[in-house]
Amino acid sequence: MRAMVLEETGTRLVEADVEDPRPRPGEVLVRVRACGVCRTDLHIVDGELAEPKLPLILGHQIVGEVIEVGEGAGRYAGGARVGIPWLGWTCGECRYCLSGRENLCPRARFTGYDIDGGYSGLAVADERFCFPIPDGYADVQAAPLLCAGLIGYRSLRMSGDAERVGLYGFGASAHIVCQVAVHQRREVLAITRPGDVETQRFALELGASWAGDARGGSAVGEPGDGGLPTELDAAIVFAPAGELVPQALRALAPGGAVVCAGIHMSDIPSFAYRDLWRERSIRSVANLTRSDGEEFLALAPEVPVRTEVGEYGLADANRALEDLRAGRFRGAAVLRPSV
Ligand SMILES: [Zn+2]
Ligand SMILES: [Zn+2]
Repeated sequence: MRAMVLEETGTRLVEADVEDPRPRPGEVLVRVRACGVCRTDLHIVDGELAEPKLPLILGHQIVGEVIEVGEGAGRYAGGARVGIPWLGWTCGECRYCLSGRENLCPRARFTGYDIDGGYSGLAVADERFCFPIPDGYADVQAAPLLCAGLIGYRSLRMSGDAERVGLYGFGASAHIVCQVAVHQRREVLAITRPGDVETQRFALELGASWAGDARGGSAVGEPGDGGLPTELDAAIVFAPAGELVPQALRALAPGGAVVCAGIHMSDIPSFAYRDLWRERSIRSVANLTRSDGEEFLALAPEVPVRTEVGEYGLADANRALEDLRAGRFRGAAVLRPSV
């Protein structure tokens, strides 16, 4: 099969012919129809995550068609459309797995990190960690639901019943979370890079009540006066920039939470204790559980979540990653290996 392979961190992916994977017991073999590009993929390429398998095929937002099942696998028949997410395997017996927190399993294995992912024509996955894809979503539209959507949804849930939610960094994840939050009748404020008028407009189209930068500057709405137009009950930080954490903390109402949604972030500058005082909190969100996936994929068609997608051929994976780094598209980037 054709695949885009990461041979060493810090280098570009290399297009190569790789031996077709075979499904082992309990696994399905899928023909990849679409695979979303995630910021985590960039962190892996940049060597910011500890120990990826190398050489590695990235990609953990896979929508594919089952073409073969391994011994003992019976959950999906040939031809079924499945989604393969970041969480690829857990031990099932540790204290985290046994308490509904398999996302924290210390032995967990992740797709496109410990296990080859979907920047390729074919992929194998443990059938227990795959999801059926809701009808009504085209393959490319469904792919970003599998990480951008899922992690965003888990982050929103960690915000509790926050009425006013600030989204710091309005990319693939935020553009989905915004729609879910508005559906839940929350008020959404979108915080982008200063002067990023196009993204600010995009956020307003998706139902945000205000869009601007962290200092309150807005090219499309009311200019702020050094802060956001209202205090936040929760701030979800998607951008991997540690300096946003104290800024978001200062934008919170008492009792509010800053939720860091990314797997990697630059260092967080120090801040005064008074900024945290009054029961404000800072937490991170790590990975996903299978029940997050089932819950979110049932909710998405009800909202209904519409994903905005830029399509790339498999061989253009490096360009997709660089476009993501530079913020050159709105919504999500998706590779289409079969085209
Ligand atoms: Zn475990
Ligand atoms: Zn991801």
